[in-house]
Amino acid sequence: MHSKKKGNIFIITAASGTGKTTLISRLVNNRPDIRVSVSHTTRAPRPGEIHGQHYYFIDTEKFESLIQEGAFLEHAKVFDNYYGTSIEGVNQLSKQGYDVILEIDVQGAEQVRRTLADACSIFILPPSFKVLADRLRGRGTESEEVVNKRLSKARHEIEQAFLFDYVVVNEDLTTAEADLLHIIKSYRLKQPSQQLFIENLLENS
Ligand code: 5GP
Repeated sequence: MHSKKKGNIFIITAASGTGKTTLISRLVNNRPDIRVSVSHTTRAPRPGEIHGQHYYFIDTEKFESLIQEGAFLEHAKVFDNYYGTSIEGVNQLSKQGYDVILEIDVQGAEQVRRTLADACSIFILPPSFKVLADRLRGRGTESEEVVNKRLSKARHEIEQAFLFDYVVVNEDLTTAEADLLHIIKSYRLKQPSQQLFIENLLENS
């Protein structure tokens, strides 16, 4: 059925080092019906990052004026930089029928949960703190002190996992990707997502 069915919104959150970004890019590359919302940020682009694809890179003044205009569904300060999800960006994708992933931190997730009651929230966990520590160390040159700080921050973030609808453990990428897809597919079968179909069916009865 080709209808004007809106896509669902999925909040995906994890502590850093959990492999969230890799997992989400794998998922989205294989699924033309799922899109990741491109956030705005005031942080500088990393090598290889493209404006409009990875983020909209804007300055603090512009970000603050967007806050004033009410342009954000949620926004937060993470590591001294602003990050935010544009209402218009998400609405456009959802109206076109795409399921939309918001790859955001715990503060943003809380705001979206409050605003969009029917958004589905997913927390991605590492299999253990040992694996998380190894992944954080494996990133390269970080000192033990920095790794320990990150681990302690990760612990605080992981405490928020109790508030999420679903929890996916990223031990193996293929399994975790399949788990995410199962969640997204089962959400499409929930009654509110099927309302248009039921209405059309009844209209044509
Ligand atoms: P990074 O700078 O490494 O790309 O992202 C740092 C953190 O900011 C990650 O936890 C990421 O999920 C989060 N983040 C990225 N975009 C947004 C956003 O639009 N809103 C919020 N609240 N967090 C975001």
